[in-house]
Amino acid sequence: MLNVVIIGASTAGHIIASQLAPKLPASHRIVIIDPAPTSYWPIASLRAAVVPGFESKVYHKLEQKNFFPANSKNVLVRQRVVSVEPASIVLDGEFEGSSQVPFDALVFATGASQPFPMRPKQEWSAEEIERHFKVMQQEIAASKNIVVMGGGPTGIEFVGEILGKFTGGEAKNITLIHRPQQLIDARAYKKLATTLEQKLRKAGVNLVLGDEHVAGPDFKVGKQDAGAVVRTKQGKEIPADYVFVAVGNSPNTQLLEQVDPSAVSANKLIKVNDHLQVKSTFFTNPNVFAAGDCADAPGWRSFVSSETEAGTVTTNLLAAIKKSSLKIHKAGPRAMVVPLGTTDGAGFAQLPLLGDSMLPEFLIPTVKGKDLFTAKFHGRFLA
Ligand SMILES: Cc1cc2nc3c(=O)[nH]c(=O)nc-3n(C[C@H](O)[C@H](O)[C@H](O)COP(=O)(O)OP(=O)(O)OC[C@H]3O[C@@H](n4cnc5c(N)ncnc54)[C@H](O)[C@@H]3O)c2cc1C
Repeated sequence: MLNVVIIGASTAGHIIASQLAPKLPASHRIVIIDPAPTSYWPIASLRAAVVPGFESKVYHKLEQKNFFPANSKNVLVRQRVVSVEPASIVLDGEFEGSSQVPFDALVFATGASQPFPMRPKQEWSAEEIERHFKVMQQEIAASKNIVVMGGGPTGIEFVGEILGKFTGGEAKNITLIHRPQQLIDARAYKKLATTLEQKLRKAGVNLVLGDEHVAGPDFKVGKQDAGAVVRTKQGKEIPADYVFVAVGNSPNTQLLEQVDPSAVSANKLIKVNDHLQVKSTFFTNPNVFAAGDCADAPGWRSFVSSETEAGTVTTNLLAAIKKSSLKIHKAGPRAMVVPLGTTDGAGFAQLPLLGDSMLPEFLIPTVKGKDLFTAKFHGRFLA
């Protein structure tokens, strides 16, 4: 049987496998590969870092029975891909008596790496993930002065979780340092940035914009030593019991870069064409695709983009197998929702005719803030 090999079984890889499995012809099977013990849901990680009990909601065990029905021809292989060849991939262990798995089609869904809590270490078990979250929750609860570096959506959401959890006499002194003068990414809708800025100021957050910390030799992330101070370029000295760094996202694209550096963009993403096929002449056939946080596809690197790209890749894998014409990928509309805990926040979406528009605030908790799409995440698994 011919293999459709998918590298990475978290969001993008899993969605492709679930959509493809029921439609795959008898000639092919899915071999989806990931060494991680769990599929991880970064979107809920910031609440899990602050709110006890939430740590069990951010992962789902990666097991064959969660992925495919009993007796399925499709397989989940819990190993790491260590290299790619023109028509096969190489594992760090063995599958069906060999470390080499030939493919008729290949998908890179290898995502990105980020420091915990945004992503766990790849090898962490469910128990280790929970243990690290519990330590973080305790350290944050015990800290009075919290400094957050990076005022993008991640930094702001983290601040929002602390504001939501610690109120009244338990409230923390929070400082948010952001290098640009405007919060979030300059590509986002400006009104979203100004709305969030107003909300954070009103909640008493000390916003340090247009400035950045100066990392001395004693700089460290997380729990600080007694009397620690964060110094900024503009000369500010901010007392810190806990430092959270909300920057640093690196796409996992080394597998391809090793064999074809020209197939990886300056920002380390896998170059793809309009069909989401990898732009590389290294492979013996063109049925090689990329989706999710590792792919240089149009739109922000996000779950929403991963889901749309997974749809295109599934359609095009089937078309490639049937030797019919491939679909052109169309990115979804721009949107960003930044909750501040379970009850507040702001968001915008690109609406037909109206363009970028702020979403009504009462929708934010319902759209994202209340459960951070955890029900949707766990609902993707069979068991
Ligand atoms: C705090 C936070 C909040 C977010 N909020 C939102 C939001 O509100 N809306 C939104 O749309 N997006 C949001 N995102 C982004 C979203 O979480 C990601 O875009 C999405 O999870 C990407 O999924 P992925 O499958 O591409 O990558 P990943 O989830 O990183 O999965 C990649 C998988 O590939 C595996 N892998 C890597 N290398 C190998 C190898 N060599 N061999 C085998 N397997 C390998 C890894 O083990 C991993 O399981 C948020 C992200 C963060 C951090």
